Amino acid sequence: MLQAVQEIRKTLGEDSVSTDDEILLAHGYSEWSTVNVDRLPVAVVFPQNTEEVSKIAKICSKYSVPIIPFSGGSSVEGHFSAPYGGVSVDFSYMNRIVEFHAEDMDVQVQPGLSWMDLNKEIEHSGLFFPVDPGPSATIDISQAQIGGMVGTNCSGTNAVRYGTMKDWVVNLTVVLADGTIVKTKRRPRKSSAGYNLNSLFVGSEGTLGLVTEATLKLAPLPTHTGVAVVAFPTIAVAAKMAVEVIQKGVVVGAIEILDDVMMKVINTIGATGRTWKEQPTLFIKFTGDEEMVEHSINRVRCIAEKYGSPHMEFEIDKEKQEELWSARKEALWSMLALRKSGNDTWTTDIAVPLSRIAELIELSKKDLAQTGLFGSILGHVGDGNFHQVILYDGDAERVRVEKCAKDMVYRALEMEGTCTGEHGVGLGKIESLQAELGDVPITIMKNIKRSLDPQWLMNPGKIFHRE
Ligand SMILES: Cc1cc2nc3c(=O)[nH]c(=O)nc-3n(C[C@H](O)[C@H](O)[C@H](O)COP(=O)(O)OP(=O)(O)OC[C@H]3O[C@@H](n4cnc5c(N)ncnc54)[C@H](O)[C@@H]3O)c2cc1C
Repeated sequence: MLQAVQEIRKTLGEDSVSTDDEILLAHGYSEWSTVNVDRLPVAVVFPQNTEEVSKIAKICSKYSVPIIPFSGGSSVEGHFSAPYGGVSVDFSYMNRIVEFHAEDMDVQVQPGLSWMDLNKEIEHSGLFFPVDPGPSATIDISQAQIGGMVGTNCSGTNAVRYGTMKDWVVNLTVVLADGTIVKTKRRPRKSSAGYNLNSLFVGSEGTLGLVTEATLKLAPLPTHTGVAVVAFPTIAVAAKMAVEVIQKGVVVGAIEILDDVMMKVINTIGATGRTWKEQPTLFIKFTGDEEMVEHSINRVRCIAEKYGSPHMEFEIDKEKQEELWSARKEALWSMLALRKSGNDTWTTDIAVPLSRIAELIELSKKDLAQTGLFGSILGHVGDGNFHQVILYDGDAERVRVEKCAKDMVYRALEMEGTCTGEHGVGLGKIESLQAELGDVPITIMKNIKRSLDPQWLMNPGKIFHRE
């Protein structure tokens, strides 16, 4: 491995490689991750363009050294850990817009550009990129970047209206393990030309190649927006109401659920400047033109009344909307602010068909209460996807958290759900994926990997075991 690092240094220049202990740690360990390993990458390499990435891959391939792509480092299942050592490829110098085609509503970017910076740069055009995985600006961690977002097929609050990362990728430039440079497609917004190679790489978690450029679709910024907040007596009723909003085809930009514990935590931390009802609460965004926003708000109000919650608050004034949305925005941060020193956090992520989400959330809450652990629920309920955030202290509690999270996954699988709606598999959910899909689909995945990466160098140990 050190020989490979030396050769990369010689080829790309001294400044392109770091073996500093702190840098290695930041590229092999994450406090956000449910799993960490004892090993770290032996070096972190900072390429400037696709050709340099290809040179790195060729050298690693020559010395059979693992290659681990790294963008924002915000993934949560041990995605960029280095169980076999190897070289971490950090895309922070590849963070530019390459070409912006406003008239075609697409943009070609490098993988180290964060989705928030992208949106700031193109705001003047009246267009935006709608995939919003977090972390929010209030949290001290770098924003998710396009390379990693392709890696995990991420989504976020906007997914209920706009879909997930896979829906926004027009084409990718990818460097394979042997240094070959591949462009998956040309630039039309749709294409039926052959196998969909975009789908192969989106969600592959860096196990098939290094994304060095992506062309992404853009959407028009909505002219009008609104926010509504409505509290319910029980979490199951809140979830059922959210599902009915989707079933009735009401146009919402986001529909998010926070449980009573989360609402209490937000009040305790006091990050929003107002006091909220400590009940399960839905936070709903509306987007469109003025008429559409008004119409959707009225339809949601009628549905809320039917579910016994006639007191829906709503706002169309921009500043007041921010105040109403603030509890959703500050939810995770408030939960983290509650940590005593030494506490760890575990974030789960599961999704089920819409009709089962209310039942699953209710059962998961009961199960968590029985363990005596402290945790809360927030979720993209309109997509049947939610997270449980659990605080714990020490190994004994960790074992209980792990069991609770696993039980939740198995409950979701029994309901024809998935072990991960948006975070991905990484190291943490290998067994869950096996339980979800069984042998044959995973064998197909391994065969695809072998055909693109015969030496098994790209991010080894993630998604599935080699044998
Ligand atoms: C506080 C917090 C909130 C979050 N909220 C959400 C949410 O709402 N929705 C959601 O979906 N996720 C969420 N996440 C998870 C995370 O933000 C997403 O998984 C995001 O897509 C990761 O992007 P990244 O740039 O940080 O990727 P990284 O962590 O750097 O990498 C993720 C994976 O992609 C691979 N990869 C990175 N760059 C490349 C590349 N150029 N080519 C090929 N593979 C690559 C890596 O090897 C790794 O396997 C949250 C995380 C945190 C900490």
